[in-house]
This record gives sequence, C-alpha cells and structure tokens, in this order.
Amino acid sequence: MVNPFEDTLQRLNGLTEYSGKEGVRFTPEDLRILEAPKRTLVVNFPVKFKDGSTRVINGYRVQYNDARGPTKGGLRFHPQVDLDEVKALALWMALKTAVVDVPYGGAKGGITINPKETAVEDLEKVSRGFIQQIHNFVGPDKDIPAPDVYTNAQTMAWMLDEFEKIKGVKAPGMITGKPIELGGSLGRDIATSLGGAYVLKEMARIYDLGLAPTVAIQGFGNAGMNMAKILSDWGYKIVAVSDSKGGVYDAAGLDVKKLIDVKTKTRTVTDYAGAKPVSNEELLLLKVDVLVPAALENQITEKNAADIKAKVIIELANGPVTHDADKILHKNDVVVAPDILANAGGVTVSYFEWVQNLQGYYWTKEDVFRKLEVKMVDAFNRIHELVKLHDIDHRTAAYIVAINRIIDAEKKRGNLSQKA
Ligand code: NAD
Repeated sequence: MVNPFEDTLQRLNGLTEYSGKEGVRFTPEDLRILEAPKRTLVVNFPVKFKDGSTRVINGYRVQYNDARGPTKGGLRFHPQVDLDEVKALALWMALKTAVVDVPYGGAKGGITINPKETAVEDLEKVSRGFIQQIHNFVGPDKDIPAPDVYTNAQTMAWMLDEFEKIKGVKAPGMITGKPIELGGSLGRDIATSLGGAYVLKEMARIYDLGLAPTVAIQGFGNAGMNMAKILSDWGYKIVAVSDSKGGVYDAAGLDVKKLIDVKTKTRTVTDYAGAKPVSNEELLLLKVDVLVPAALENQITEKNAADIKAKVIIELANGPVTHDADKILHKNDVVVAPDILANAGGVTVSYFEWVQNLQGYYWTKEDVFRKLEVKMVDAFNRIHELVKLHDIDHRTAAYIVAINRIIDAEKKRGNLSQKA
C-alpha cells in the first residue's frame, strides 16, 4: 500500500531537478520548509453517547503551511483516520490553494468515528466536542475547516454554532460548506465537479477530443454524480460509471438522469437496467476519451498504468494516481489533470463563501460560476505554459506553480533566504 504522504514527499524531491530552470523560483534547500507540517493538533475527548456509554474520541487537525494566509481544508469522519493520510491531504490543500491562487495555506482534519454506525445526536456531540478542543486554533483568520468524507453542511452548522457560542461572536467565515441559511454559498454543492469540467473544456480543445468525447467515471458520489450530469449536459457521452458495489457500461451512452434516479433509490448504480456490468478495475481500463477517478486514492498504480487507454484523466478524487504511475502515463501520452488543479473548484468556491461572509454581501449562482471559471481557466493556462516550456506533465507543472507561490510568500516573510 502506497503511503500518500511519503509518495508526495517523493514528488517534492523530484522537483529539485528543475531548480534553476526558467519559471522555477525555488532551490532544493527552500523545499525543506514543506517536508513537515507547521502544526499538528492531536486531541482525545470523552463524549457521552445516547446509549449511556462514554467513548473517547480521537481527532486530528494538521495545519501544513500558512505562508499565503489562514489554513484551509476539509474535516472527515472515518473509522480509520490515519495521521499520514491527513498530513498528505493537508499538504495537497496548501498546493491546491496556491494553484488556484486563493489567499490561503493548507490544512486537513479527521475524527476517528464510523458515522454509518453512529446516531445523529451523537455525531452532533462529537462535532461540538471537537470544536471545544480546537477553538483556539481555528477561525476566519486562522484556519477554516470545510466538509470532507462523511461530513456535510449539517456537521459544519453544528461546528459553527459551537464556535460562536464559545467565542460569543457571529463568525460565519470560520467554516465553509455551511447551509445557505447560515451563510453558505450558492453553487458550492457542484463546485468541485464544475471546476473539473472547466479544466476538461480547456483540455478537450488542446488535445482535440472531438465533438462528443466518451467518458468513464469511477465513483458516483458528490463529485462523480455532478460531473456526469454537467458533462452529459455539455454533450459528452458518459459510457461507464461505478460506485463501491461495481459499475455499468454502455458504449452507446448511459442515461445520466436515469442513473441518478437509480442511485438515489437503490443507493447503487449497479441496479441500472440495460447496461453491461463492469468492475471498478475494468472501468479504469476502458477505451474512452476521458477517465474521471472520483472515488479513492491509489487507483492507478504502476500495476495498471500501462493498460490505461483514456486520452485524458481528470482527477476529481485526491491522489488516485501514484507517483510511479504518473511516469508511465506521461510516457504513453496520457494527459493527467492533477487533483490539485482538477478538484480545486471546491476550495475556490469555499473561498468565495468566506469572502461573502466577510463582506456580508451575497452573490448569485451565476456570479459564483463565472468567477469560478475565470479562476480555473487561469490556473490551467499558467500550468499549461510550463508544460510546453519544459515538456513536463501537468502535475509536475502544477507543483512548480504552487511551490513557486508558497516559497515566494515564505521569502517575503523573511522565513527563507531571498537568494533564488
Ligand atoms: P462521496 O462519499 O460523495 O462519493 C464517493 C463515491 O465513491 C461513492 O459513490 C462511493 O460508492 C464510491 N466508492 C467508494 N469506494 C469505491 C470503490 N472501491 N470503487 C469505486 N467507487 C467507490 O465523496 P465525494 O465528495 O464525491 O469525494 C470523492 C473524491 O473526490 C474523494 O477523493 C474526495 O476527497 C474528492 N474530492 C471531493 C470534493 C467535493 O467537493 N466533494 C472536493 C475535492 C476532492
């Protein structure tokens, strides 16, 4: 099993060979500031559950780098929250906010709990208990959490309420992904997928994907389902989708509206009638124009990378392609839009939510989407210029763009030598 934090540190190490080249503003020495998080909070707190038992809950918050602004990143509920995974995700958040140039650092958090086996009342107590532990370290100008795996707008609402009660203030900008009624942004629900779709639109033009490119999507949750809907509305042909139970394939194209109905009613896309079953492993290897991993980490590795037939991969999931697989894909001319760009639409609209909270003035959905497109297209263009300049893959270019910005900020603060 690839350790995602070690894998990312290897990628950072690999960047030292570009030091001194045109458009690269950091030295190998500078990169050392990104080898470990700035702050790691580990908390343990007792919660009285409604069945009368008292359980000690573990939680983490990793604030990786804050040179460019308050740290920002999601908070997940999972029975096996692993500190190395949270560290990798926090580092990716620092890179992601820098790629789309929003004024944040990066953070991530996790609470060890199985939400599927926990009553809603107990999840509320856990959410409030976590904020009681970390309230001095979060806030609109310190660290701003958001939803992630198995947390949602309701979780954010409990956490905001607890924070505001402790502090005796109203501070909606302390958390994003909130319900609209508490200061959430219109459009936040589909922002990750729409951001990825804007990136794909640019790539489809450059890499000549034709009029109705075929698409396979792994994962049919928030990210995958919305991506299917947006792309089918734009005229792409969705030929395969999957979830944790398996997938379905139809070369003639799946009816996305019907898929969403089936998934909503039966909780799995495998109940969609009239298509061939396909396993998650097979879906990745289909001959399609576009492959969208939107589920889990480590899906494309050195074991299956050589068999990928898609022309373009849009990483809506975090970390679906390993470092070794990247090299194979690049050699085979498979173009990857890396997670720190492709799924950055979510954090970009979280940033818009925070801006709206700070100014107390709220935008229309059209405003949000227009501003999102500008940010995503700008980020893609900046990365693509470096791709052409050095004949490198988009992930390496995205890392260079992000690290340039983080290191520039560290230097201006006087935390690193100003010498290039
Ligand atoms: P989600 O929980 O809503 O959906 C996950 C989907 O993946 C579900 O359909 C689930 O059935 C499926 N899945 C689980 N195990 C699978 C397996 N073994 N094979 C195939 N499918 C499997 O989660 P989400 O919010 O859609 O997030 C998906 C990915 O996108 C994660 O990596 C997440 O970190 C990333 N992401 C999401 C957002 C966002 O705004 N939702 C933002 C950035 C990154």
